[in-house]
Amino acid sequence: MPLMRSWVTSANDERCPFPLNNLPCGVFETAGRAARCGVAIGDGILDVAELEREGVLVLDGGPYFERPAWNALMAAGPAVWAALRGRLTEVLAEGSGERGRAESHLVPQSGATLHMPFEVAEYTDFYAGRHHASNVGTMFRGPDNALPPNWLHIPIGYNGRASSVVVSETKIRRPWGQVKGPDHPAPVFQPSRRFDIELEMGAVVGVPSQPGHPVTVAEADAMIFGYVILNDWSARDIQAWEYQPLGPFQAKATATTISPWIVMKAALEPFRVSTPPREVPLLPYLAEPGPMLYDIDLEVTLTPQGGEESVISRTNYHEMYYSAAQQLAHHTTSGCAMRTGDLLGSGTISGDTKDSRGSLLELSWGGKEPFQIPGGTRSFIEDNDTLVLRGQANGDGYIIGFGDCTGTVLSALTDPYAR
Ligand code: CA
Repeated sequence: MPLMRSWVTSANDERCPFPLNNLPCGVFETAGRAARCGVAIGDGILDVAELEREGVLVLDGGPYFERPAWNALMAAGPAVWAALRGRLTEVLAEGSGERGRAESHLVPQSGATLHMPFEVAEYTDFYAGRHHASNVGTMFRGPDNALPPNWLHIPIGYNGRASSVVVSETKIRRPWGQVKGPDHPAPVFQPSRRFDIELEMGAVVGVPSQPGHPVTVAEADAMIFGYVILNDWSARDIQAWEYQPLGPFQAKATATTISPWIVMKAALEPFRVSTPPREVPLLPYLAEPGPMLYDIDLEVTLTPQGGEESVISRTNYHEMYYSAAQQLAHHTTSGCAMRTGDLLGSGTISGDTKDSRGSLLELSWGGKEPFQIPGGTRSFIEDNDTLVLRGQANGDGYIIGFGDCTGTVLSALTDPYAR
C-alpha cells in the first residue's frame, strides 16, 4: 500500500512517523483543557473528542473520546476500530470536503503534553526472544544451560505490575534493593549498580476474554488493539539474587515505560511477517494461522547528561520466537480472563549480532566488555543518562512510527526511608 496523502501536508513527508496510513492513538493535554483522546497526523494531533462532540465523528456505542484513555474504544471491538479509521481517513484525506470542519481541531504536537494513552488493566511480561534468552542464560547459568528446557515449548512470562507502567518522558528513579554480590557474605540493601533497559514491543488488548474460556491464536490476534514500544527497566543485580525460583519481582517493578502512541494493528497489516522456523514442534494450541509478527525496525540510543546521543543497538521485532498472539493465547489456557487494557511485553528483542542486543546487560556482556559511546564507555546505565527506544515500519514511500519511548535515570535517593 502506498502513502495515503492528507491535506495535513506535514503528514505526506516520507520521513514523517505519522502519515494518514498510521493514525495512532494518544492522550493529550493543552492549556486550559483537560486531557482527552487524540490521533497523531503529521506534526499535529487531531482532537477526536471535539470532532465527536460536533458530530463529525459518530461511532456505534459512543461517545468514546472526551476522557483521558482509549479503553472504551478499545473495548468496542474490531468493527468500531475499523469504522474509526475509515471515518478519519475520509476527513483527513487530501481533497476532503470536510477539511474545514476538522482543521480547527488540529493541535500542534509541540504545544501539547502527552499522557498515558490507555489505562493499563494488568501487565504481563514475556521472555520470547531467542537470542536474548540464550545470551542471558549463558551469563547466568553457562552455555550448556542457556535455554531452560521449557523455553522452546512455552512462551515464558510472569505477571508484572500495572501500577509501574508510565508514559515516555517520565523520569525514572534508580531503585534500591536487596543484592548479594560474590564478595558479599550476606545480602545488602543498596542502590542498584546494574540498572538496565529492555527493548520490547508491547501488545495492547482491546477485546476481553471470558474466564474459563481459552482462546486460539487467531482469536487472540483479533483481540489485540495495537502495539507500543516498551522499555522494561531492569535492575540486574537485584534480579540475579531474587529470581530463583519464582522469577523477577522487585528487579522489574521500578518502572516500565511505553511510547505515547498506540499504533493500531490495522496500520501494521502491510508489515506482517512469520515467526522463525520452529526448532521443535509446538503444541497445537500455539499453532499460528498466518504471519503474526511484524517487520519493525528498532533502535536504542543513549545520551549522557550534556553529551551526544548515540545509537547503541539496532534490531527488528521479527527476531522474536513467539508472537504476541501466541503469548495471549497461552495466557488464557489456564482459564485466565484477559481484560481491556491488558499490556503484554514481548520480552527483550535482541538480534544475533553484538550490535543488535536489546539490553546493556548483553551489550556489555554482564559488564565484562564495556561498550564505547562518544566520550566514554558504558556497562550499565549511569545517573542522568537518557535512553530512547524507537521503532518504525518502512512502507512504500512512508513510515509508521510510535513516538519516542524516552526515560532519564535519576540518582537513587540518599535514604529511601528518610521521613
Ligand atoms: Ca522484560
